[in-house]
This record gives sequence, structure tokens and C-alpha cells, in this order.
Amino acid sequence: MREIYLDNSATTRCFPEVVHLMDRICLEEYGNPSSLHHKGVEAEAHLREAKQIFAQILRCSPENIYFTSCGTESDNISLIGSALANQRRGKHIVTTRIEHPAILETAHFLQQQGFEVTYLDVDSNGIVDPQAVADAVRPDTILVSVMHTNNEIGALEPIAQIGEAIKRKNPDTLFHVDAVQGFGKAVIHPRSMHIDLLSASGHKIHAPKGVGLLYIGDGVKIRSILFGGGQQKGMRSGTENVAGIAGMALAAKMLYDRFDEEMDRLYGMKEFFVSEVQTMEGVHVNGLTGRASAPHVISLSIDGVRAEVLLHALEEKGIYVSSGSACSSNRPHISDTLLAIGTPKQYLDSTIRISTSVMNTREDLQAAADALRELLPFLRKYTRQ
Ligand code: PLP
Repeated sequence: MREIYLDNSATTRCFPEVVHLMDRICLEEYGNPSSLHHKGVEAEAHLREAKQIFAQILRCSPENIYFTSCGTESDNISLIGSALANQRRGKHIVTTRIEHPAILETAHFLQQQGFEVTYLDVDSNGIVDPQAVADAVRPDTILVSVMHTNNEIGALEPIAQIGEAIKRKNPDTLFHVDAVQGFGKAVIHPRSMHIDLLSASGHKIHAPKGVGLLYIGDGVKIRSILFGGGQQKGMRSGTENVAGIAGMALAAKMLYDRFDEEMDRLYGMKEFFVSEVQTMEGVHVNGLTGRASAPHVISLSIDGVRAEVLLHALEEKGIYVSSGSACSSNRPHISDTLLAIGTPKQYLDSTIRISTSVMNTREDLQAAADALRELLPFLRKYTRQ
């Protein structure tokens, strides 16, 4: 049976080129980048090259690039590190109701430590209003954190306008962007978008799990939350995951080298799939579509079928999708994003997410649409009394 993987927002398959490079680094160029001998210098060169690649993509200096173990760590450092470093100036943080748990749980932790957090509402498409952000920013607001691309419905946030609105109201307020779902699928230039801190993750862009990126803008006051050998200018102690970092940099380069062409293809596939499901009875697309949305995420609420049942029925046909957000499946709970966009109660556990990548083809989406068309009437017959 042909495997059709449509859960790329949960994680992606590595590019073979990435695996080959990592293989070489693990087997031959395996030195510790802090070592003074040749093996160390060789490993350090991989870090330097990776920083150059990310600096070119993000249009910043290599000095702004730090490496972490995942998107979650980058999010945690951004929130906790900037809260600790700036708490004398104020203890107010602003974020939104649709952030990933890596942000929402960290914000809850900071509330327990005496910080005040404002959670902004979004509209029915999951979009944050830049004016609402500006209205929430106060003289004691030290940080605003807004995601670039929502992982559940693919909402694209107006990041540049939000950045501008924040700085107009309070130039000292830091702006963090969780770009774990957006990096690799959108052009993101932190400086021109007023972004001070930005998180990205390797495993969402065809590199392995266990590597993340953190952009820290010039002069941003932030404290480390990991102590040890003082690697990465003391900002993030711990021996760098050289193979993972080099792999993530290569994956990013491959994506951005063919960016326009691949984005056209991804948006074309999304448009095709959306037009297919729009012909199916009782299937509703959540959020915006077309270029106003992320190219790779499609959220469907389905009348009379439980998401989990549909997910396993599709799995039997070799098609992998997710119910709600895979990142939350450790702690099944009602999706914050679906609640925030006002999803009717009957759809809260009847929503699936289909997420594509550059490894998918139109045939994959045709197969998924055909499977839905075949399965839905059958599953409804057994779900409804
Ligand atoms: N932020 C968003 C928007 C995500 O979608 C995810 C993972 O799905 C994360 C953060 C966490 O990233 P990681 O899995 O690299 O820790």
C-alpha cells in the first residue's frame, strides 16, 4: 500500500541530502566545536556555515542566530529569558489564545511566578488584530508573543503590522514570534518586521527532531535559562547538536532556494483539495484559504463523524492525517484554537488537519479527497443513531 503522509505540521520526513550530510558529520566530522584541535575546528565550521545560511534567509547577522534543541526550547527561552531579564521594567506580557502549548504553558508558568499575562482574542479565522495588540501594550509590557502561522488551522498572522503597532505604542516592548510552522513556508525578515525574538524548529522543515533555532535581535535583553559550559556566548550552554544544526541549515537552504516555485505548487495543491472538499456534503474548511492562509495546513470540520474514527479509517488506506493538533495528543484536551475561533461544539472533536509539504504531490491530495468521499457516508451511517 502506498503511504500518503499528510501530517507534515506534526513532523516531516528528512530530505535525503540532509541525512547524508548528517551521516558524514556523525561518522567523520564528529568533533566537539569547542575543542581546539582540528576535529573541533571542522565541527565549528559547520556551525559557522549554518549561521551564515540562516542569516542570509532571515536577512540578519550570523551573530543573531542561536541553536536550541527544539521549537519548544526556543519559545521557553524567549518568554522566560526575556521575563527574567526585564522584570525590573515591568511584569506584563501579552500573547494570544491560539498559541502552541510551548507558549501558553510557559505563560501560565510565568503567571505563577508573579507575571501578568493578557491573552488576546482572535477573529473567526484565527487572525489577531494589530490594533488589539497595540491597545493591550502598556508602559510595563515587557514582551508580546504572537505566532507566525497557526499549527491547527493555518492562520497567517499580520506579523509586520503587529510589530509596527507594538513599537509605536512602546518601543521597549520585545516582540517574540513563534515561527515553528511559518519558517520554510514564508519569507520572514525579523528586522523589517520589528521582531526581536523568533523560534523555528528543524523537524518541521525536513531536518531531524532535536534541533531548533532562536533569532535574538541586536541589543535584546535576555537571560539564559540553561547554565553550563558557556557555549553560544553563554546564552545557551550545552554542546551543540552539530549534525542536526548543519542538517537544519541545509534543509532551510533547499526550501528557500526553490521557494517561489514550491510555494506556488503548495498553494495550488491546497486550492485543488479545498475545491474537492467543497463538493462534499457536511465538510467545512476552517479559517481562510488561498494566499491569505498558510500553504500547507487545511483544517476540516466534518458533520457526524468523530475525528479519531476518521483518522484511523484513513490510516487503513495508508493516509496519515491528524485530529486537531498532534502536538497536543499527549494531553488530549479541547483545542484552544478551535475554541478561540468559535467552532460550534459539535465540531470540537470532529475536526481533522491535513498538512502537506514539498514532498507531497497533487496525486496524494486526490487520493485523500477520494478516500474522504468514499468513507464519510459509510462512517456517518455507523456514527448517527
Ligand atoms: N510552536 C508551534 C506553532 C508548533 O506547531 C510546534 C510543534 O508542533 C512547536 C511550537 C513546538 O516545536 P517542537 O516540536 O520543535 O518543540
